[in-house]
Amino acid sequence: MKASQFLISTLKEAPADAEVVSHKLMMRAGMIKKLGAGIYSYMPMGLRVVRKVEAIVREEMNRAGAVELAMPVIQPAELWQETGRFEAMGPELLRIKDRHERDYVVQPTSEEVVTDIARQEIKSYKQLPKNFYQIQTKFRDERRPRFGLMRGREFTMKDAYSFDRDQDAAKLSYQVMAKAYRKIFDRFGLVYRAVAADSGAIGGDLSEEFQVIAATGEDAIVYCPGSDYAANMEKAEALAPQSPRAAATQALEKVSTPGMSTCVDVANYLKLPIENSLKTLVVATDERDDKGEIVKSRVWLLLIRGDRSMNEVKVGKIPGLAGFRFATLTEIDEHFGCEPGYLGPVGLKKPLSVVVDREVAVMSDWICGANVADYHLSGVNWGRDLPEPDVIADLRNVVEGDLSPDGKGALAIERGIEIGHVFYLGTKYSRAMNATFLDVNGKPQFMEMGCYGIGITRLPAAAIEQNHDERGIIWPDALAPFTVVLCPISPDRFPDVKAAADKLYAELMEAGVDVILDDRNERPGAMFADWELIGVPHRVTLGDRGLKEGMVEYQHRRDAAATSVPVAEVLGLIQ
Ligand code: ATP
Ligand code: MG
Ligand code: MG
Ligand code: MG
Repeated sequence: MKASQFLISTLKEAPADAEVVSHKLMMRAGMIKKLGAGIYSYMPMGLRVVRKVEAIVREEMNRAGAVELAMPVIQPAELWQETGRFEAMGPELLRIKDRHERDYVVQPTSEEVVTDIARQEIKSYKQLPKNFYQIQTKFRDERRPRFGLMRGREFTMKDAYSFDRDQDAAKLSYQVMAKAYRKIFDRFGLVYRAVAADSGAIGGDLSEEFQVIAATGEDAIVYCPGSDYAANMEKAEALAPQSPRAAATQALEKVSTPGMSTCVDVANYLKLPIENSLKTLVVATDERDDKGEIVKSRVWLLLIRGDRSMNEVKVGKIPGLAGFRFATLTEIDEHFGCEPGYLGPVGLKKPLSVVVDREVAVMSDWICGANVADYHLSGVNWGRDLPEPDVIADLRNVVEGDLSPDGKGALAIERGIEIGHVFYLGTKYSRAMNATFLDVNGKPQFMEMGCYGIGITRLPAAAIEQNHDERGIIWPDALAPFTVVLCPISPDRFPDVKAAADKLYAELMEAGVDVILDDRNERPGAMFADWELIGVPHRVTLGDRGLKEGMVEYQHRRDAAATSVPVAEVLGLIQ
């Protein structure tokens, strides 16, 4: 590829809505372009990366015995009604109607369609096992699309579905996938952890998430440095013994009063004396102009040591809160991003986390829960400097230093980005859709299923979170849009430079190297800055002086400086 023919559109500044480094750098490197909330075009440079991800995933899936097919993005609602997910999936499922007013969904995943295919195609145990996969566009109307490709609404997923004759065979299929996933993420050069995840109603331990370790990750993961124990927070909390703290946390989740204020009255829930109650309150303050019109409302979250009455709350102590009123539901919704009228049970953890970047009183070390020994959580803070996310450490059942369930040491917590998920489904879908086969005795049996996803377009974002510096992206070779860039210096003034660059370019192309020749005639500074931002791992600079001695400058993206090497050695350095 020649740069003059390609589209290179780097930016000095990232757009204001880009919060995490991968989003910033993908925008600045011209890899993606925003079309709407959570909807992006993959620009030529970005698409090359996505294609590399797909190629490796495809190769390893094929190697593991899965077979590729492609299912429609737009799917008739009937199938989704068979499993009940047309209703059950809630607002994340995008439902559309055609001209005949018939219902359709835009696939967020494809269990229904693949099960429909299996029940038509698979008649006998002799046809099992089967594993079908696709690399396909998905749409999920995420409550909070953000971080660019990390949490898009439209994104690409590799989704695979296994069909087996019995549980043992299904577990084997699951293990084959779990192993293939390790191979895939190893090939991308990512630092990740496979963690136990919630396996839903089925129970058992056959659900694992693959989490790329990153401080900006939206998930909390729990592991024991002294053993193999690793789980996502959800799973870890589900297994944690019910301590008073856990009871209080659960109560915090369950109890709240939708209304003009939100009160979390743990004491009441736990049937403790009323004087032990503590409350959380959402209030608003209004900024008014000369005419007394409201120009700006700010919503504040208060944790109140409400052991007696609200009158005792010294709100005046908090700057800007001298005069307050209870926040309206709409305000609460707008500020905390929760379902209208509801900052409660389901919402509590998540909406509260959103306060981090909102107009919220920053307070320190408040107590939350009940005002009685152990039934409360102390040191609760919602401050601007929290790393974001969904789980507020102090509200967890499981905290750093707790004993690991296997008893082998203290637990550690880190943040991760979920890039893959393997899941044993059992007969959940085959039963709902009557997908049977005839077993050895000629008796119909429900197919045992598993499903296996990889976030194809989330993966490059996760890789950047782990691989970047102040100058830009540092792609692992396996993901780089180009493996090597050739940078001739002033080829317009030095014909020998142009000739040497063209020759090396032809040789590398011939050797099958993914090479781009920067023939734009840019100044070296600008040219280098572009390629460092884009993150091409190998750079070869061709200058007039060096070439007189048959030398060029080679620099790996991670090297501090370039080294002089003979032209003939370039290929060897790259491969
Ligand atoms: P999350 O917990 O991040 O919402 P999920 O558990 O809902 O993800 P799965 O249903 O397990 O996602 O889908 C398989 C994979 O698809 C995930 O492991 C993730 O890598 C990817 N994925 C899910 N949602 C998105 C999204 N909104 N944008 C990009 N990739 C996504
Ligand atoms: Mg999700
Ligand atoms: Mg998840
Ligand atoms: Mg998942």
